[in-house]
Amino acid sequence: MPATPAWPPASTPRLFVDQTLSAGLTLALDGAQANYLGNVMRLKAGDPVRLFDDRTGEWLAEVSDSAKRRVTLRLTGKLRARESVPDLWLLFAPIKKGPIDWLVEKATELGAARLQPVITQRTIVDRLNLDRLRANIIEASEQCDRTALPELAEPVKLTALLRDWDAGRALIFADETGGSPFAQVARPGPAAILIGPEGGFTPGERDAIRATPGAIGASLGPRILRAETAAAAAIAAWMTMAGDWR
Ligand code: SAM
Repeated sequence: MPATPAWPPASTPRLFVDQTLSAGLTLALDGAQANYLGNVMRLKAGDPVRLFDDRTGEWLAEVSDSAKRRVTLRLTGKLRARESVPDLWLLFAPIKKGPIDWLVEKATELGAARLQPVITQRTIVDRLNLDRLRANIIEASEQCDRTALPELAEPVKLTALLRDWDAGRALIFADETGGSPFAQVARPGPAAILIGPEGGFTPGERDAIRATPGAIGASLGPRILRAETAAAAAIAAWMTMAGDWR
């Protein structure tokens, strides 16, 4: 007896919509989303689309009308609730365009709950395009099947971050000059991973971080990693030992 094919098919387009979804809702998509569904995917009436809203979860919709600049969809059923994501934050010194886009995309795929840019003394990036980073987050979430978007916080200075730090959240400070083996610091529970800029932290910053209640210096091995590599590697290691990869 051949197995009945899964529905909706794996190839079904999946989009984030920034509005609360509910059963029976009809919504019209314009702009890039309409172009993607109508002209790129060439959807027609009756074709399925998966939508998620970062509030209620993921829904199945079907195309009710596909015009050149507008695609109208009707929600037909809820596929799953919004997921709970491990309580892991990534605190990162902004780095150059390109690497920072990669860092944000990988942190999203790997399951970070919150992305917090941190301005340090050696941060060379003076202007951060949060809209572009948020677009990267949305695109990565659509691709990797997240139903909960990582939160993207406004940049904060390192001094302010440390001053206001809640010691109830582990502050895992990736220190290329040496720290505890990562396996010893990754524990279930609220956590944050702090990654420095291309030029690393200053000695004074390092001392201030280590003096912060809840902070612990962690090594990511004997090699010097690029900041974006260090961020992805640290999140993956944490997910393996304390997150939702167990
Ligand atoms: N200071 C060096 C430099 O000037 O190239 C390295 C900075 S590294 C490119 C950027 C950040 O990645 C560091 O601040 C640290 O947070 C993290 N990192 C890189 N390699 C690491 C390692 N082996 N162990 C822990 N953290 C590392």
